[in-house]
Amino acid sequence: MALSPGEHVLVTGGAGYVGSVCATVLVEQGYRVTVIDDLSTGNREAVPDGAHFLEGDVLDAAPGVLADDCAAVFHFAAKSLVGESVVSPAKYWSGNVVTSLRLLDLMRAAGVDNLVFSSTAACYGEPATVPITEDLPTAPTNPYGASKLAIDHIITSYAAAYGLGATSLRYFNVAGAYGTVGENRAVETHLIPLILQVALGAREKIMIFGDDWPTADGTCVRDYIHIRDLADAHILAASSNTPGSHRIFNLGSGDGFSVQQVVETCRKVTGHPIPAEVAPRRGGDPATLIASSARAMAELGWSPTRSDLTTIVGDAWAFTSQLGGRAHFARG
Ligand code: UDP
Repeated sequence: MALSPGEHVLVTGGAGYVGSVCATVLVEQGYRVTVIDDLSTGNREAVPDGAHFLEGDVLDAAPGVLADDCAAVFHFAAKSLVGESVVSPAKYWSGNVVTSLRLLDLMRAAGVDNLVFSSTAACYGEPATVPITEDLPTAPTNPYGASKLAIDHIITSYAAAYGLGATSLRYFNVAGAYGTVGENRAVETHLIPLILQVALGAREKIMIFGDDWPTADGTCVRDYIHIRDLADAHILAASSNTPGSHRIFNLGSGDGFSVQQVVETCRKVTGHPIPAEVAPRRGGDPATLIASSARAMAELGWSPTRSDLTTIVGDAWAFTSQLGGRAHFARG
């Protein structure tokens, strides 16, 4: 069942940040790609030209795509805002778990048995130790992480009982850009795009959420992974899935950078002074999150080549400065 170029791949959520970069790389590598996205959070222009695009609900559009000689599904379509998941959990249980379950049943009915699932480090919650390996206990601290973990459980049982071949990839802090695709959300909450909005002049300063954390400089430490390296891992996963097996891999660079270090790197890359101000801690932030990607490297043969912070920020800046002051940057 391993996937090869030329085959037909369904990418759900392929107008979102991660999904669109994966769809782009799949097209570049010669796959036949169909993207389904309802554009609730995605951008139509992020879908690569070489992909067939279906706007709408995954479950309405999937049966036709799955019946069209579909060899694999890359499932990105999801709700992914932690704060929103706390306030509106119904959206997450329904939009993430129910939709994924139904998609798996559609795949089963169509005989499509190769799945790559977009999971998250939020499955681990606040880990007792770093780096985080896949065998650490899962203890999500919000409905977003819990919904992704529930889907992982469903996939495990479908692999064991129905012969599905699947890989879940648990991302740490995805950043950077690839070509014309980068972080471009209507409501932005992530550190690197927010800092770059300051450099662009669209935002006055960056707020640093706490400088009294138990870390070397007192600001939170995260593991940043380049979006293009992430795309490689997805294709390697689909190319090596085997029926009856569900593999789970953490994806990060294995290096931690503090918020202060990220701000400094952005100053160097952009040449902008980027004013920063310390603000209170943000609820729910763990002090340090660093991945161990040793399993993905050993078993997938994955090796991130662009995930040093200067390359990540440089690519993100090339994208952001290209977008210029377009209106959909949130100000504040
Ligand atoms: N952060 C910050 N100011 C911001 C946005 C984020 O200090 O305006 C911090 C946040 O507290 C966390 C880190 O930057 O420690 C990365 O946050 P982000 O939201 O990018 O990703 P997360 O780690 O929450 O998935």
